[in-house]
Amino acid sequence: TYTSNTSNANRFSISYCKSSSTLTTTAASVSPSGRPPPIKFTSLISLKPYLQSDWRPILCGWLCSAVSVYSLSKIVPLVGKFPSLMTAANPMKFRKEGLVLGVFVLVRIIASYLQQAFLWEAALNCVYKIRVYVFNRVLQRDLGFFEGENGVLPGDVAYRISAEASDVGDTVYSLLDTIVPSTLQFAAMATQMLIASPTLSLISALAIPSMAFITGYLGEKLREISNEAHLSIAALSAYLNEVLASVLFVKANNAESCESIRFQSLASTHLSAHLRKKKMKGFIPHIVQIMYFGVLFALGVASLVISRGNFDYSAIFSFITSLVLLIEPIQGVGKAYNELKEGEPAIERLFNLTTFKSQVIEEPDALELGPVTGEVKFCGVSFKYGDGIPFVLDGLDLHVKAGETISLVGPSGGGKTTLVKLLLRLYDPLVGSILIDGIDIRSVRLESLRRHVGLVSQDTTLFAGTIAENIGYRDLMTGIDMRKVELAAQTANADEFIKNLPKRYETNVGPRGSNFSGGQKQRLAIARALYQNPSILILDEATSALDSSSEQLVRQALQHLMQNRTVLIIAHRLETVLMAERVFLLNDGKLQEVSRSSLMDKLHGSLSSTEFVI
Ligand code: ADP
Ligand code: MG
Repeated sequence: TYTSNTSNANRFSISYCKSSSTLTTTAASVSPSGRPPPIKFTSLISLKPYLQSDWRPILCGWLCSAVSVYSLSKIVPLVGKFPSLMTAANPMKFRKEGLVLGVFVLVRIIASYLQQAFLWEAALNCVYKIRVYVFNRVLQRDLGFFEGENGVLPGDVAYRISAEASDVGDTVYSLLDTIVPSTLQFAAMATQMLIASPTLSLISALAIPSMAFITGYLGEKLREISNEAHLSIAALSAYLNEVLASVLFVKANNAESCESIRFQSLASTHLSAHLRKKKMKGFIPHIVQIMYFGVLFALGVASLVISRGNFDYSAIFSFITSLVLLIEPIQGVGKAYNELKEGEPAIERLFNLTTFKSQVIEEPDALELGPVTGEVKFCGVSFKYGDGIPFVLDGLDLHVKAGETISLVGPSGGGKTTLVKLLLRLYDPLVGSILIDGIDIRSVRLESLRRHVGLVSQDTTLFAGTIAENIGYRDLMTGIDMRKVELAAQTANADEFIKNLPKRYETNVGPRGSNFSGGQKQRLAIARALYQNPSILILDEATSALDSSSEQLVRQALQHLMQNRTVLIIAHRLETVLMAERVFLLNDGKLQEVSRSSLMDKLHGSLSSTEFVI
């Protein structure tokens, strides 16, 4: 379960525990019954919108396939003629026919290559569009999707959008490469066979229904096994994602061997699923080879016919070659069917990420929240994270005047961060409302609300990139104002350590900011919030990782900051808490004002402990 975390050490233990408990539930969260979720995706129809705009390469690919099949249909009878040409001893005709054959072979080679190139272009474009669409949809999902009991692990989502989307590409290619080209080749070869010998053709066709039946049955099995393989690799990837981010914690706890065993167990689950999939996948095309019995049978019949002397060689040759070449597209269809069944779980898992009903909904007529003075009101707000879980906030009232600074204190897990999440509208209250400047935040555009509210969170988030990019994150796309970056860093007292770095503002922060200490990261996060210059600033235990001297520096900075904006400080250290004009205690889901003077007494009474004590 999720527990509040106030220190880095705690955070590690939480992510660690989470990874162990969710390894098994990753699969469950995707498919409770262990079977593919009942999504209506059974055909190419769902992919149609993503393929539509690429009709040109698809059309070109199919035209090339028509050329290729046409060449083939010319090649077969030409080759069939050769024995008689050789015996006829007509070198001129032999050379001429040979040249024509050579040209058709060349045309077929080039057309087949172009067919592949065009169809891959369409398939990969389709994957690109699906990826972008799914990623955007994922970002639109409520925070609740990523948090809490049924939260999907980031590694799983990452795996779906990266590797599984590529699998979808293989499926799409396979289908494009099959639908028209294989049908054309099948039709061309079947015609040739019929021309050569209608009776033999009918005998050979008898094998088709049984093959279709077996392939259909095996395809469904393949889909199930493929789903297992997908789930097991997604679990593996989610596990890796978590454990590699916590290497420090793993090493500090001598947990390398324990993690190695856990990894082996996940990897072996995947191994067995993957192996079963490969075996099954390899089996289906071989079923098609039953058709070769048809060839043998046809040969047998042909030999009888020939021995009776009423059949010509080239027709027999043409028939048998056509039959062999007919098997090729049937195998192609089998392979594509395989790919579809193998890819279906990936497609479903990918599109599953995009089908959801948001709890936090932006009204179509939502207002743009213009400049605000920063007055914040919580009116009878109640909230809980799910059914059967107690209320975190229970009829909470709070009125922060514009420009005022208040502090929020309370026990860990008391709901302070939850209150912040509600103010940012990451969740909506179940009862009551939250107003900024008298406007219900549910009636304004989310983007405009979040522009006015700056957050420095207790989990400092730095992205791989430079310091400047991290501080000016909001303007990453539109162009970072370096003057503002430096000013923000100075105000947050981060400027001094940044200047000592060899590349200064261009220094890379490393994965998750691992190149910096907790205090440095927090000062960078504060600088990021200052860069935004919000009307309402929230510091959610933002100074907890600072040592006393740097906290003092940040406190001085905050003194400047508190002017002209509303500030909500969530902190434990008394000196920080007392920077506020009013202090509130959040307990049992309600707020209660604490008198500053009693806190002052406490501060002066015990110099040794400046932590807030409830
Ligand atoms: P605080 O910030 O005061 O330490 P939080 O607001 O983080 O407390 O958490 C309040 C309570 O809500 C805790 O009991 C915590 O376990 C629970 N909680 C927080 N986030 C979630 C979540 N996403 N899903 C379920 N419970 C949650
Ligand atoms: Mg908190």
